[in-house]
This record gives sequence, C-alpha cells and structure tokens, in this order.
Amino acid sequence: MSRIKKKFGNLLGLDKYFWSSRPNGLYSVNFHRIGDSADTQFDPCVYSCSTKELEQHLTFFKKHFRIISLSALSEYLRTNEAINERVMCITFDDGYIDNYSNALPILKSHNVTASFFIATGLIGNTVVPWWDKAAYLIKTYNPKAIKLSGWSDKVINQHDGDHFIRAVLASIKHCKSAAEEQIKELEAFFNHSGSYPEAEFMDWSHLQVLIDNGMELGAHSHNHDILTKLTTDELFYELSHSKALLESNLQCKISAFSYPVGNRSTYDDNVVDGLKNNGYELAFNFQSGINQLPSSSPYDLHRFPIAPGMSEADLMQMFGYARKF
Ligand SMILES: [Zn+2]
Repeated sequence: MSRIKKKFGNLLGLDKYFWSSRPNGLYSVNFHRIGDSADTQFDPCVYSCSTKELEQHLTFFKKHFRIISLSALSEYLRTNEAINERVMCITFDDGYIDNYSNALPILKSHNVTASFFIATGLIGNTVVPWWDKAAYLIKTYNPKAIKLSGWSDKVINQHDGDHFIRAVLASIKHCKSAAEEQIKELEAFFNHSGSYPEAEFMDWSHLQVLIDNGMELGAHSHNHDILTKLTTDELFYELSHSKALLESNLQCKISAFSYPVGNRSTYDDNVVDGLKNNGYELAFNFQSGINQLPSSSPYDLHRFPIAPGMSEADLMQMFGYARKF
C-alpha cells in the first residue's frame, strides 16, 4: 500500500468507501508465529502478531467475514461455485510451536477453524531452518556488517537488530547459492561451532491435537526450499514426501499446499503441474489479493500477510484497497 494512499485515503473518506464496497470473494489471511518476538533466540521477523492482537484480529474477522474451512473452500472449487459473500480462510505457515501453545487456545475460544501449512522436515526433530540460524548468529555475534561471497552488497548494521536481521535474510534469499551454503559461510565468518539452541517447531503429537480440535492441515513442502530452484526429482520429493508424511502420521487427507516464501518467482507452471500430479487441489501464495471464485486459479490463491502492530484501520485499508484476482 502506498504511503500517499495511507495518508490521504482516510482524510478523503476513501478508506471507508473502499472498505464498505469491498467485493464478494475469498479473503485469506496468513500468520506465521504468534507471541512476543523478544522471547525467541531465533528470527524475530517471522512473528505475525502477539496473542492479544490475534484475539483482536479474530474478533474483527468474525464480524466482517464468514470464516470457512479448507474443506469448504475445496467444495467451492470442486463445484466451480461462485462465492457470493465475503468469506475468509485463516492460515498459518511453517509449523512453529506457538501455533499450538498460543494460537490454538485463542482459535478454540473463538470457535474458529484455521489451517496450518506444515514444512514436514521441521516437525518433530532438531532441524533449525536457515532463517532462524542466521538470526541466531547475528544476535550472538552482533557484527557491524556482513558480506558473503555471493552477495553484491555489504549489509551494514546501522539501525536496530531486527532491521539488520531482516536485511541479512533478504540478501540470503536473493543470492543464487543455496541458503544452507550461505549459513556455512556465515558460521565460518563467526568461527561458530555449528551448534544451535533447540528448534521451536511442533512435533507430530501437537499436530494431532490441532486435528482433534477441528483444525485442518496442508503441506508447505518438506525442506522449505524455494521450489523453482529445484531439479525435477527434488521438486517431486518436496511435494510428494510432505503429503505422504502428513497423511501416514496423522491419518488425514492432504489436498492443500502453500508455497514456501510464496512470491511470484517461487512457483511456476512446472510446480503447479507437480501439485496436480500429486493430488493437490489448491495452493496458496503469499501475496495480497481477493480471490473471486470461480475465476481465480485454485493453484494461485492469494493471501493477506498479517504483520505485527496492525490496527483495525490498517486491516480495513489492506482489504479495502486490495487487488482482485
Ligand atoms: Zn514458510
């Protein structure tokens, strides 16, 4: 959203106009971690909101949208039915432990069904993902600047810590070499042993409790790699293995996917073909937008990212000015 719109939209009454005339369709929102980002030794930038904010958001969503489950969305897609009201899917990505400890009780108290997209390689083991490793190394060694061999620019630590972490993570994402290779280079740079605190993800029993409480699951790949960077075999593994693990460990049917990272460069026709061949019926990206079924592609469903500190006015602006797909 442009700053100008944000500044003048309210004054001119446009915010109110666009919000109240927002079209029918599927509005999906996406969360990652829920809680206080100051509590983690890992990446603070994956926090979407505090528990208090989640309470407030859910109250707001329930007032203005009909919350639907993934199964209900699949049914819309299967029957090619138009959505003649404003409905919303609430989604969480990655599988962090606070989805279970912080989000689930709040979702239950609001009687709301949400779906959790799980990167199965992070579940029930000690794997710390690259973004959490990078953040941990920066917090531990607090460097003044970093430049890895594949980066075009040096990243300088001139503001607060979170800003610097965000900039380093962006450089790792944009760099052509694999994120894990860059982490090895970072470890060497800091002369770090390679050991990290315990990873902060759910295990299989937590996922079972989510299901037992009426929540739904989807796959988010196995290793959380950017799918367009993979070979055909690697891509097949990421799509099939995550689905198979979830289905066999939890006796559930997985037919929904969310793309790791999720911007337009992280999935293509090849990835969508892979999803179809592996029995997925729908997939979410990580870009804002209103899905107007049946015209929107089931493998390119848009989601609004929820960021810390969003007020009701911010949410109204985000939904009111959104593009339609
Ligand atoms: Zn993710």
